[in-house]
Amino acid sequence: MNAEIIAIGTELTLGTTVDTNSAWLAGQLATIGVAVSRVSLVGDDLPALTAMIGEAWARAELVICTGGLGPTADDLTREAVAAATERPLEFHPDLFEQIAARFRSFGRTMSESNRQQAYVPTGALAIPNARGTAPVFIVSEPERALMVLPGVPSEMKFLAETELLPFLRNERGLKSILLVRSVYLSGTSEAEAGEAIADLMQAPYPTVGISAKAAQYEVRISALGEDRQQVEADLAAVVAEVTRRLGRYILNKAGLVAHVVHHLREQNQTLALYEGFREAPVYAALRRVPGGLQSVRGVTIHPLDEPVDAEAAESLARAAAAEVRNDWRADYGLAVIPAQVGADGYTDICLVLTDRHGEQSLCRRVDMASSEAFGFIGNGALEIVRRSLETLQRQE
Ligand code: AMP
Ligand code: MG
Repeated sequence: MNAEIIAIGTELTLGTTVDTNSAWLAGQLATIGVAVSRVSLVGDDLPALTAMIGEAWARAELVICTGGLGPTADDLTREAVAAATERPLEFHPDLFEQIAARFRSFGRTMSESNRQQAYVPTGALAIPNARGTAPVFIVSEPERALMVLPGVPSEMKFLAETELLPFLRNERGLKSILLVRSVYLSGTSEAEAGEAIADLMQAPYPTVGISAKAAQYEVRISALGEDRQQVEADLAAVVAEVTRRLGRYILNKAGLVAHVVHHLREQNQTLALYEGFREAPVYAALRRVPGGLQSVRGVTIHPLDEPVDAEAAESLARAAAAEVRNDWRADYGLAVIPAQVGADGYTDICLVLTDRHGEQSLCRRVDMASSEAFGFIGNGALEIVRRSLETLQRQE
């Protein structure tokens, strides 16, 4: 079944509200094997809305509209669906009574404009909205269906879960389930990991893909089928194969930072930080995970007074890592010191980890204008800790 989603509202096309409904709906539809081929945004404009719904209705087996069901003059979805499907609006006294009852239960009086919410296209199945006033409806034909959902995300989700998904399962016989597993990697590159599992990524089933974020890599494995046990087994086989090939880079499910925090505690090691950025990227990364600061003995945040070149930054970082390790009596001293920004906008960030055996240093070139810059630095520094903990574990 191929589906299209149309998100309706001028707040969306103006960019003042971000369309989160479509992404959520697409994710839900994927779990029952419905592929979304197109997602559109349209403002509160009757001709544009009617044209867009009409085109989708002619193309897709399932059209889902969200938004524009309110009682005001800019809520045009009902009218547009009626025109696009050539099913004139009909008044439903029972819906009108349900809307009126809802107002009474809140002790409010219903206004005349709420009356238009009791109109639905001819032959459509009207569904009361237990979370709001606007009733929703489904236009169901043997080969295609159109469902209109509210724009308010909580109402939309409630009606999708209680009405749309059961309709697709029960009326359209959709029995597929999609199972997804993620494996997180660190200490490799997207290209290297991609080469190791290239054949798995090319196979049509299960689907395997890699995405990168702030020096961590997520391998997503998904399988779609009708027999849950079979789908689980197919997925498990690919997860096992990915693990066999990339095992040494695999992190805990919760990602690099949680992995490092867990292993520091397990191996009874403590950490002291020297942060050369006011933003303290390593401290910030650790603070975001539960119990992330448990093994941290102390933090010194000290941006440089004046810019230095990469070589100077590295020797400062060596001295700083040793200093905090000593000052805080920690097993590890970790320092992050940036050099001055280069002509190309990139900065060398020097990362040094010191322990009782010696030190490891690494310089990374980072685009400080990127929104991921600090995430990248924090993860880059913790990656050195991860490797050192792994070596320590092997030696024990
Ligand atoms: P509406 O049903 O179009 O009157 O929408 C009511 C409210 O729900 C809007 O003011 C938005 O705040 C929110 N909303 C509508 N559509 C969306 C959407 N696609 N994604 C997220 N929020 C939305
Ligand atoms: Mg609206």
